[in-house]
Amino acid sequence: MKPKSAAKPAKAKSATTGRAMTKPKTIYSKAEIEEIFRRFSIQRPEPKGELEHVNPFTLVVAVALSAQATDAGVNKATRALFAIADTPEKMVDLGEEQVRDYIKTIGLYRNKAKNVIALSEKLIADFGGEVPRTREELITLPGVGRKTANVVLSMAFGQATMAVDTHIFRIANRLCLAPGKTPDEIEHQLMQIIPDHYLYHAHHWLILHGRYCCKARKPECQRCVIADICKSAEKTSEMPAPLVELPAQII
Ligand code: SF4
Repeated sequence: MKPKSAAKPAKAKSATTGRAMTKPKTIYSKAEIEEIFRRFSIQRPEPKGELEHVNPFTLVVAVALSAQATDAGVNKATRALFAIADTPEKMVDLGEEQVRDYIKTIGLYRNKAKNVIALSEKLIADFGGEVPRTREELITLPGVGRKTANVVLSMAFGQATMAVDTHIFRIANRLCLAPGKTPDEIEHQLMQIIPDHYLYHAHHWLILHGRYCCKARKPECQRCVIADICKSAEKTSEMPAPLVELPAQII
């Protein structure tokens, strides 16, 4: 009798993302990745997100509003909104029509106003008016996807996550740091290759590097602190810029 074949061993799972581990596609050595993030940590020791908020609830709303909009544009609209509605209860009292008026300068504002009210109602009904602290719960809120949930977990609750936005997606592929076709694939790879001691700030370092230096149209390689390590085909300089801490306004 043919012996039963042994069951395949389960693939190891990532402790941070809970997903099956696959071999990262990065073309950088461990030492190079360590050095990239070491330099980012000197350049921006305390990086901060640029979306204004006053508590976890207003952060959820701000991040949900920021899809296909700039942080500056969202801040302009939410300053007045959050001054009068900084809790789910106050937001529901304000009502969809008024929320729409406050955010009408932001793209897709009609749908977003609907989601802000719906997510406020769900927070009250299912979570006692508090923002939940797990990704699984956060993504049950209307208008909240994995990226928004990751930003909230990181900025509101201090968890190391990797919310892959347009800048991180570009950098991961342009540098072949964590090449991938989808944000999920890139998130998974980055969480595997970034050293644990840099993971908490890595999300902001990559976003700010993409926003202010490794720009979409024309990367500013001559002032890039990792120019000598970068293996991008688009690189135009081999010389790393002097490593200095940046002033607060461009942290
Ligand atoms: S050297 Fe140029 S392409 Fe490479 S990370 Fe720096 S800015 Fe981007």
